[in-house]
Amino acid sequence: MIEVVTLGGRAELSERAVQDLAKRLRGRLLRSGDEGYDEARLLWNRAIDRRPALIVRCAGADDVRAAVGYAREHDLLVSVRGGGHNVTGHAVCEGGLMIDLSALKAARVDAARGRLIAGPGLTWGELDAATQRHGLATTGGIISTTGVAGLTLGGGHGWLMRKHGLACDNLTAIELVTADGALVRASAEENPELFWGVRGGGGNFGVVTTFEFGLHPLGTILAGLLLHPLSRGREILESYRDLAPTAPDELTVGILITTWFDGTPVMAVALCWSGSLDEGERVIAPLRGLGSPILDSVRPMTYGALQTMFDATNPPGAWYYKTGYLDGEAFGSDRFIDTLLEHCDFPTPSPLSRIFIEHLGGAMGRVPAGATAFVHRAAPFDLIVIAGGFPPEAAEANVRWARATTEAMRPFSSGAAYVNYLDADATAEAVRSAYGPAYTRLVALKDRYDPTNFFRLNQNIGPTPR
Ligand SMILES: Cc1cc2nc3c(=O)[nH]c(=O)nc-3n(C[C@H](O)[C@H](O)[C@H](O)COP(=O)(O)OP(=O)(O)OC[C@H]3O[C@@H](n4cnc5c(N)ncnc54)[C@H](O)[C@@H]3O)c2cc1C
Repeated sequence: MIEVVTLGGRAELSERAVQDLAKRLRGRLLRSGDEGYDEARLLWNRAIDRRPALIVRCAGADDVRAAVGYAREHDLLVSVRGGGHNVTGHAVCEGGLMIDLSALKAARVDAARGRLIAGPGLTWGELDAATQRHGLATTGGIISTTGVAGLTLGGGHGWLMRKHGLACDNLTAIELVTADGALVRASAEENPELFWGVRGGGGNFGVVTTFEFGLHPLGTILAGLLLHPLSRGREILESYRDLAPTAPDELTVGILITTWFDGTPVMAVALCWSGSLDEGERVIAPLRGLGSPILDSVRPMTYGALQTMFDATNPPGAWYYKTGYLDGEAFGSDRFIDTLLEHCDFPTPSPLSRIFIEHLGGAMGRVPAGATAFVHRAAPFDLIVIAGGFPPEAAEANVRWARATTEAMRPFSSGAAYVNYLDADATAEAVRSAYGPAYTRLVALKDRYDPTNFFRLNQNIGPTPR
């Protein structure tokens, strides 16, 4: 007998029942002790250490349907793993059945139509490699190891969002296995309400087995980091607030404040220009004219080179996230700069802890708020406070730093947050406010596609109680 967690509590499955599932699959069924089991349950956030009773390593949509059907028959708790990168660890369950999509890495590019059909196990690095071979790209995250699936379903901030919209804005269709095991397609023409909901509503409505994206031509970009000592922070932030709010869509430029590996507190301007190189040099000249940086890595490069530039500073580890969209007026004030520089405590306890100001607006901001379930279109900037430390014992000091920093910066927040940046201890109220004005419509969609809350390990949209 194998002990499992059901939606109602603990139960046991007979060996025969387990073999019955194995027979239905093209992919592998893994249990504790099987080769590959520990690797499959490990996530990017190594602080998460859960042991599913069953892991279905899916080989295709039929396996997803079989896993969903089986979990339903046996009332099992289910988690869904795409790239395994979400800090909450919702992708892996304790004792239940984990639907592992990480082997589904198909990436078929139709260069003539500017379209991509992508599997849900791809990382952005893998997807970008496939599209860049054809001189094409779509908006992905700012590092290469994040999963395509979770990032896109929550919205998808990235280097190209100001030019081409969020990752979810570039979706043209999806295929999804619903809680009752049906495989449905959603696009602007087919099941349009579901298509609205999966663009920002996360994994609440089913398991996406195929993503179809629109692609855009993208050749050499101008990108990199200008790293200065934090003592030059005021000058940099003043120049940034003059330039960033009115910058052309081709420029996405963020501010990173952290500790360099030698212990020096630093501020970096991180930028991506995706237009003509000459014009880019002209637009970023005020940022380049801020005196000699410790490091200037800004140069013409491939998009793939930019996407992997920050991988080394985002290694798997114990992490904590706090985020909030910034209020435009508060962001422009001297008080914002004073608070950031005078009331946030630098150096951070670890070089992995940092503040990142994301530059939003442009094309992503022009999508009408009701067009997708991602609703925070008017926010000009997002402030992310990240704590990370090795060894795990260092985590406490870093989390303390992140909490104090979040508190200091709270007066500048609009009160809204991005659902993909919420951490595991987000309250129901915080989750609700991350879905914002879309929440009521999302609950109606949940009632229709998942009335028993079968897909509950996520930033959950609870169905209406019956
Ligand atoms: C270092 C780091 C950098 C990041 N950078 C960015 C960034 O630049 N931009 C940005 O927008 N976000 C970023 N994120 C956040 C990221 O968007 C989320 O963590 C996202 O959930 C990761 O997707 P995943 O597939 O890897 O996640 P997973 O952990 O595999 O899944 C997270 C959740 O998504 C759902 N899910 C996953 N796959 C599917 C599927 N196929 N069908 C249905 N539901 C599914 C499930 O509910 C699952 O619990 C970053 C995170 C980290 C840790």
